[in-house]
Amino acid sequence: MRLSPFLRRRFQIGGIVQGVGFRPWVYQLAQRHGLGGYVFNSTAGVTIEVEGPAEAVNRFDAALRSEAPPLAELGQIRVESLEPFGYEAFTIRDSEDAAGEFVLVPPDIATCPDCLADLRDPANRRYRYPFTNCTNCGPRYSIIQEIPYDRPNTTMAGFRQCPDCEREYRSPGDRRFHAQPNACPACGPWVELWDRERMLAERAEAIDRTRQLLRDGAILAIKGVGGFHLACDATNDAAVRSLRQRKLRSAKPFALMASSIEKIAEFCETCPEERAVLSGARRPIVLLARRPVSRISPEVAPGAPTLGVMLPYTPLHHLLFEGGAFDALVMTSANLSEEPIAYRNEEVAARLHPLADYFLLHNRPIQTRVDDSVVRVFEGRERLLRRARGYAPRPIELGFAAQEVLACGGELKNTFCLTKQHYAILSQHMGDLENLETLEFFEETLDHMRRFFRVTPRAVAHDLHPQYMTTRLALAMPGIEKIGVQHHHAHIAACMAENGLRETVIGVALDGTGYGTDGQIWGGEFLVCDYLNFERRFHLRYVPLPGGDTAIRQPWRSAMSYFEDAGLPGAPALEAVPEAQRRVVAAMLAGRVNTVDTSSCGRLFDAVSALLGIRLETTYEGQAAIELEAAAAAGIDERYPYSIDAGTIDFRETIRAIVRDESARALRSARFHNTVSAAIAEACRRIRAADGLDVVCLSGGTFQNVYLLSHAAQLLRAAGFRVFTHAIVPPNDGGLSLGQAVIASNRLR
Ligand code: ZN
Ligand code: ZN
Ligand code: FE
Repeated sequence: MRLSPFLRRRFQIGGIVQGVGFRPWVYQLAQRHGLGGYVFNSTAGVTIEVEGPAEAVNRFDAALRSEAPPLAELGQIRVESLEPFGYEAFTIRDSEDAAGEFVLVPPDIATCPDCLADLRDPANRRYRYPFTNCTNCGPRYSIIQEIPYDRPNTTMAGFRQCPDCEREYRSPGDRRFHAQPNACPACGPWVELWDRERMLAERAEAIDRTRQLLRDGAILAIKGVGGFHLACDATNDAAVRSLRQRKLRSAKPFALMASSIEKIAEFCETCPEERAVLSGARRPIVLLARRPVSRISPEVAPGAPTLGVMLPYTPLHHLLFEGGAFDALVMTSANLSEEPIAYRNEEVAARLHPLADYFLLHNRPIQTRVDDSVVRVFEGRERLLRRARGYAPRPIELGFAAQEVLACGGELKNTFCLTKQHYAILSQHMGDLENLETLEFFEETLDHMRRFFRVTPRAVAHDLHPQYMTTRLALAMPGIEKIGVQHHHAHIAACMAENGLRETVIGVALDGTGYGTDGQIWGGEFLVCDYLNFERRFHLRYVPLPGGDTAIRQPWRSAMSYFEDAGLPGAPALEAVPEAQRRVVAAMLAGRVNTVDTSSCGRLFDAVSALLGIRLETTYEGQAAIELEAAAAAGIDERYPYSIDAGTIDFRETIRAIVRDESARALRSARFHNTVSAAIAEACRRIRAADGLDVVCLSGGTFQNVYLLSHAAQLLRAAGFRVFTHAIVPPNDGGLSLGQAVIASNRLR
C-alpha cells in the first residue's frame, strides 16, 4: 500500500538551460527525491519526466523552480500531468531535435570557485592548467560553431579527451558531465610564448616568462576568451605610455585587471553592488570612481574621473597574477581604435606585431570574437554601457510574441538584433561600422546567429541615415521588406522594451548624432511615442555645425557656432585655437558653407566644454562631455536661465550667462548640468499638461553622463513622473537595434 498518491509529471523548460550544468543537476535532484523518469536536451530546451509519491514530486517541482544552477535562466515552464508509467530509475537520455524550435546559447562565463580550487591544488591533475573549466564555467558562445551545443560543434572538436576527462564527461554525478570544453594538461589546448620571430617557451614555462616580461615593462598580446588583449603593468608609466603611442595616441581610457577586490580598493572606491558585479560570473569591466592618489599610472586614463576595472575571468588570468605579481595590468582590446578585436593566431603577424613585443598564444580557436563588457552601477543597479562577453547572446524578454525581424542598428558602438517568439537577441558589441573589418565581423556574426536561433526575418529594420553602412547593407538585402526607423524613436523604444512598457510614453532622447526626418542632424529630442509612431514635441534649437564630422572631433567649432547664435563675439578659452582656423570656421558660419543644422545635445555639451577651456579637441568619442561632467562640483543647486517656446528649447541665454559667470569651472559646469536637467523636466511637464502622459523614458548616449541622468531623474520624480532608464542594454547606440526591432515587429502586425 502507498501512503501518498503516485504521480507522473512532465516539464518542458525553455530559457538558458543547456551548457550550464542543468541536466546533471536535475539528475541529482531526482535521485535525492527518489524519483524515476528521465531528462534530455531538445532544440526547444530541456524535457523532464518524473514519477513517484506526490509529496516527492511536489518537492522536486518546487526545487526545480527555485534552486536551479547559477548559470541557468529558466524561461517558460510547461507542466503536464500523466498516468504513471513505472520507470525503474532516473536516466539522462540523448538529445532530441524538435524542428523549428530553438534553444538559447549560453554566454562565456568566468572560472568558478571549484575550478579555481582545482587550479591551485598541487595534488589535482589540473594544477596550474590554464584551460580548466566545468559545466558551471568556461567558454561557450565564443567557441560554439553550430547547435546543438555538443563538443563536435565547438572549436574543442580537434581535442580528443583523454580517458580521465572522458570518464568525467560521461558521469552524471560529475561536475564535468557533458562539459563540452572539458580538458586537462594531457589532452587539451596549451599556451605558447612567441616573440616576433619564434617560439620562446610553452605551457607552464610560457606563463612564468610572460609574468616576468610584464614585470620588466614589456607589452604583450595575450589571447583570451573572445580575442586578444594588449597587456602591460599598469603601474609602469613608460610601458603604459608606450602602449598608448602604439595604439595611435588617443587618450581613451585603458581597462585594468586586478587580482582581487582588495587590490581594487587601493585605487578605486567601491560599494557593495559594485563588488558584487565585479566578482560575479559575467566579470565585466566596471567603471569605478578612482582614488585621487594611487600607484596606477596616470597614463591609464588621463583626465577621466573613473577607472574601468575587472577581475580575472580565465584560469590563465589567475595564473598571471600568481604570487601577487602585479597590482594591476592594463588589459585593453588588441585593435587599433574602433576596429574589431583581433582574435585569430594568424592575425598576430599582420595586426599585432606593431602593437606588442611578445605574444602569449593558445591553440583553442575562437569561433566568435567577443569583447569585454563594460558596466556601471547606478542607483544600486548594474547598467550596461557595452554589452558583449558574459551577456551576449542572452535574450531579452519582450513580453509579447514578436514577428521575426532583423534590426541592423546604427553606426557607432553597433549591435544588431534578431527577434524570435517573445525574445529579442542582441549581438555582442561590434565597434564602429566604418571599416571593412567591422563589416565582415557584422556579416559573419549575423550569419552565425541566424543559424543558431533559426530566425528567418520577415523584415529588416535600419536607421534613416542614408550613409550608414548598416543602412546600405539593409537596403541591399534582396526579397525582404525594409523598415526605416528614426534614430531617436529607436532609442526610446529600446528603453520601453527593456522596461516592458507598452503604453504611449514621453521619450527624452539626448545624444550626439541621429538622422532626422527633416534631413537635419537631431540629438536633443522630446518625443511622444509608442512602438509604432512618434511625434516630435520639443527639440534643442538648431545651430549650424561647421564642417560636419570634423566638428565632432573639434568641440571649439561647436562653441563658435553657439557663440554666433547667441550674438557673442567669442571667448578667451578659444584663443588657444590658431586664429587662421577660427577665421575659416567663422566664414563657414557666416556664409552657411559646409554646415549642417543640428539639435544635438552632444554638441551643446561640446560647446560648453570648449568655452570653459576644458576640451577644445578630442581624441575619442564623448571626451569633451566626459571631462565636462568630471569637472562639475557636487552639491550645487543654482542654474542658468534658458527658454522653451513653440517646440524649441533655447540655450542662448544659458551660453551668455556662462560666459558672464566668472566663477570656477567646477561651479559653472554644475550650473550648466542643472540647467539642462531643469529644461528636461520642464519640457516633460509641458507634454504632460497637453497629453496627460506621466511615463518618461530617458535614452541616448548623453545619459551616460551620471550627473545629468541623476539630476534629471530626480527632478522628474519630484514632479510626479514615473521615470525609466536603461540597465540591460546601453543607452548609447549599442541599444539602438533593440528599439528598431520592436518597432519593426509591431509595424508588421
Ligand atoms: Zn568550473
Ligand atoms: Zn584530459
Ligand atoms: Fe544615438
